[in-house]
Amino acid sequence: MAEFSIIETYFNRQNKNAVDLGVGDDSAVLTPPHGQQLVICADTSVAGRHFPINTHPHSIGWKSVAVNLSDIAAMGAKPHSILLALSLPQIDHAWLSDFSQGLYDCCDQFGVSLIGGDTTQSPHLTITVTALGWIEQGQAVQRSGAKPGDYICVSGTVGDAAYGLAHLGHPLQQRLDYPTPRCELGLALKGLASSMIDVSDGLAQDLGHILKASQVGASIELNDLPLSETLRYLQHEQRYQYALAGGDDYELCFTISPEHYVKLKQRNLTTNYRKIGVVQSKLGLEFTQNGLAYSLDFHGYQHFA
Ligand code: ADP
Ligand code: MG
Repeated sequence: MAEFSIIETYFNRQNKNAVDLGVGDDSAVLTPPHGQQLVICADTSVAGRHFPINTHPHSIGWKSVAVNLSDIAAMGAKPHSILLALSLPQIDHAWLSDFSQGLYDCCDQFGVSLIGGDTTQSPHLTITVTALGWIEQGQAVQRSGAKPGDYICVSGTVGDAAYGLAHLGHPLQQRLDYPTPRCELGLALKGLASSMIDVSDGLAQDLGHILKASQVGASIELNDLPLSETLRYLQHEQRYQYALAGGDDYELCFTISPEHYVKLKQRNLTTNYRKIGVVQSKLGLEFTQNGLAYSLDFHGYQHFA
């Protein structure tokens, strides 16, 4: 089967969103909504590196989209569409069918259209998704806006995906295979959060990016970390290793002034989030447990370790 019939069979469904021209020509064509800026990001997954080689293709499809929508959400933007660059070692119809279903399931859940891509043969299964979104001029939430006195918050629960990876077959593997991009929360934080990042390499490391970009420090209360029941039963060291240094959470970590936090609460969002600490002018990341200083030693995920 040629490249064209793969595209036709698996990646050319009717679009959900307004697109002037989608899959089938040399490029896609979109009309930006009036007064909005394009927000764009890409993320590559390599089999054996970013997911175990035998991961179910439906999950690979879902996650390839979800991790990008998470980056769009982390800017406060509304996701619109994706492009898919797919490198396949061979043509496996069962695999392609499940993969494209997973990809479209995630697109459909978040109102996103697949508008183009590229399909090639290569010895390694590699998937690059590019996501596009829109945001009102000048409204993108950056990493650099945290101010002393802001609250630090995180959505969902942290550490589940890392626990799932270390215990394949455990129910928490679902959190590894099917991350939920926090699109609703991200959008709601536009105009409210002072800074934001999505947590992909561990909460401590990713919060560290905000602190560095904003030239501030932070204090985190360990008792306030949002943990699923499985993690709450672990010993402290293990629990905090997963929660603070485990990768693949795809939760949102954001800073917000106390006044804006009140406004956020009034929105009654369906997405959970919790205050876990405060931004301070003293540089560095400190931890407390029940308000008392607590020293921790751990490492985040290193891409080139
Ligand atoms: P070109 O040779 O001009 O780059 P291609 O033959 O690679 O075009 O692609 C034909 C069309 O199919 C283009 O619109 C492209 O965006 C789309 N396309 C190719 N691969 C994919 C894919 N995996 N998913 C979605 N669209 C794809
Ligand atoms: Mg091409």
